[in-house]
Amino acid sequence: MSILVENISKKFGSFQALDRVNLEIKNGSLVGLLGPSGSGKSTLLRVLAGLELPDSGRIWLEGQDATQMKLQDREIGFVFQNYALFPHLTVFENIAFGLEVKNLDSLLKKQRVQELLKLMQLEKFGNCYPNQLSGGQRQRVALARALAVEPKVLLLDEPFAALDAKIRKQLRSWLRELHHQISVTTVFVTHDYAEAMELAQEIVILEKGQILQIGTAQELSDHPTNSFVEEFLELNK
Ligand code: ADP
Ligand code: MG
Repeated sequence: MSILVENISKKFGSFQALDRVNLEIKNGSLVGLLGPSGSGKSTLLRVLAGLELPDSGRIWLEGQDATQMKLQDREIGFVFQNYALFPHLTVFENIAFGLEVKNLDSLLKKQRVQELLKLMQLEKFGNCYPNQLSGGQRQRVALARALAVEPKVLLLDEPFAALDAKIRKQLRSWLRELHHQISVTTVFVTHDYAEAMELAQEIVILEKGQILQIGTAQELSDHPTNSFVEEFLELNK
């Protein structure tokens, strides 16, 4: 699904979290939102998800005005940094939970969960509980749950931030492979330069609620259009 963000602004009290943000995201693309802490990345994602209403501006999903549309009508799956799997449910049940909103009979539901377990290379873990899994595996369960409803957009807010460097790296290439397979429009937030550079087809640089630059990793490092981008990229190399 294509996404069009049109002149979105959002304040918290007197703090301008998003300041006239314009952004076009093509159907099937993999876009990284990169910027320092407090720059508005999560707020933008939450506005896209419908968890937060903008003060002004519009969100268009596949050409439809979705600004006032409820979360459950947006066909969006998301994984947040502090996602929580249900500790008392097995991996299988956690993923199936994502399907509860759909009226599927139990056989279909079971098939769908099996498919997702396979896609996430978690076939062996269906009967495990979250505390029996590694951090990387848990994150894959969270992704599977988000994908269960076959969302048209996947929003990931620093999905790998809590994990150590080695696992983060594995998950990165794994996410790229997944996107290659299912090509769902994906927007992921990171403050990790390397993650954005390696994963994203297009990178959006946010600072103080404004988009400073949009481009491929190559374009950004070759031609940063202002000194903030230049310094930010240099510092984070
Ligand atoms: P980022 O994800 O880039 O770190 P955020 O979008 O989370 O930035 O936040 C941008 C700023 O908006 C932060 O300074 C944060 O304190 C503020 N903010 C975010 N959400 C809220 C909220 N619900 N209420 C008040 N302030 C908020
Ligand atoms: Mg954030």
